[in-house]
Amino acid sequence: MPKAAPVPEDLNPHHIARHQFEEAIPYVDDLKGWKGVSQWLFEPERVVKVTLPVVMDDGEVRVFRGYRVLHNTARGPGKGGIRFYPTVDEDEVKALASWMTWKCAVVDIPFGGAKGGVECDTTKLSTDEKRRITRRFVTSLGDTIGPYTDIPAPDMYTDPDTMAWIYDTYAMLHPNAENLGVVTGKPVDLGGIPGRGTATAQGSVFVAEHLLALGAVPGLSQIEDAVVSVQGFGNAGRHAAFILRDMGAKVVAVSDSKGGVFKAKGLDLEAVEAHKKETGSVVGTPGTRRIGVKGTLEVECDILIPAALENQITLENAERVSTKLVVEAANGPTTPGADRILASKGIVLAPDILANAGGVVVSYFEWVQNLEHEQWEESVVHARLRTKMYRAAEQVLTTYRRITERFPEYQARWRQFMPEAKAITHKPDMRIAAMATAVGRCKAALDRRGVWP
Ligand code: NAD
Repeated sequence: MPKAAPVPEDLNPHHIARHQFEEAIPYVDDLKGWKGVSQWLFEPERVVKVTLPVVMDDGEVRVFRGYRVLHNTARGPGKGGIRFYPTVDEDEVKALASWMTWKCAVVDIPFGGAKGGVECDTTKLSTDEKRRITRRFVTSLGDTIGPYTDIPAPDMYTDPDTMAWIYDTYAMLHPNAENLGVVTGKPVDLGGIPGRGTATAQGSVFVAEHLLALGAVPGLSQIEDAVVSVQGFGNAGRHAAFILRDMGAKVVAVSDSKGGVFKAKGLDLEAVEAHKKETGSVVGTPGTRRIGVKGTLEVECDILIPAALENQITLENAERVSTKLVVEAANGPTTPGADRILASKGIVLAPDILANAGGVVVSYFEWVQNLEHEQWEESVVHARLRTKMYRAAEQVLTTYRRITERFPEYQARWRQFMPEAKAITHKPDMRIAAMATAVGRCKAALDRRGVWP
């Protein structure tokens, strides 16, 4: 009999975010009043879509689409990056905003979740064009963002310069006010905080280091001598590679949007970086073997760091992932189907809402610094980040161990509480544990606040 055609995987990030949310609900401690609250907690509070006419360098007007989603403010004002990427759309921004809500809750900082994006390809834009898009976007958003309501930060293809333009535009629109807290990830000489540039990567490394120390990863107890592969050589991936290499790991593969490079003895990262600066890509670094854009994900290693974009480890390639620990520096790199495959292979996964939360933690420090008119030393930032990331990793691991050990009890509790809902069929993983921790904290905040009026 001919083999049935495989069912295509649903790669819509918002559908994936909903799936992850629903999978975590049975493990939330307090299920009281859950039926209404779950809808309230998942749907975004506000979705703003703007049309941005921009004069390009050649004098022509081009129109871009921009989005800002405020997902949930149960625990504090919205917080989340702005990305400039050709495939940005409403569903992606909604998913990323919801992940920010859970991320801020899992590391226990007093923010809700938000995200923004502009559909554009920065590799084809001049700096002036990028600045005009940024200024028009911020102007169109108006009071949708603000230091006490919704605070942007960098994400893919936006950087401290972009944050400086956001601040400047907002400040021009709000004269005679203190505006530094409207955006984080600013340059250090414009109210930024030392250590923000490396914070996402450093946070990922702290999580990996602590999980290893706590015995969460069979067969791997330390970063020293671990073999590492990194997808993405931007803010998150590049810094992660350097930090791990400096801790004694062997980084054998890295990649960017044009492809990847591999060297079994360990890459000379300075040479890779110099080559990328010169040619625009890591591909072709002397002394390395070329691999595909997704090749880094299939390299045999101890620690795999997806640090590029969503939907990279999927049903199509998850079987070929060969690592002990996946640390999701990117948001949404692994699909639900791939999660199941990785778990069945005994691969431990530190989920995005925990593993890449270092960026938003240091953004929170920057925001506090701005509001309090303080300046923090980098050593203070580093130490406080470590405390936050270690604690969050430990709490998620504790939850994971508890819900795994008591799995049959959770199955029975769920069957009793929601007999009409789908039964839980597979054991929880670390993503479910992190989500249950975060969603439980948001629900507790809503319960305390009550429903207005
Ligand atoms: P970045 O723009 O600095 O780097 C992005 C990297 O991804 C580049 O190396 C680029 O070449 C690569 N890339 C782009 N398209 C690709 C493709 N189709 N296939 C493979 N690689 C591709 O962005 P970043 O800030 O490092 O963000 C990377 C990821 O980390 C994103 O998922 C982002 O949401 C997440 N993240 C970033 C931060 C932060 O503070 N910057 C915080 C948390 C999470």
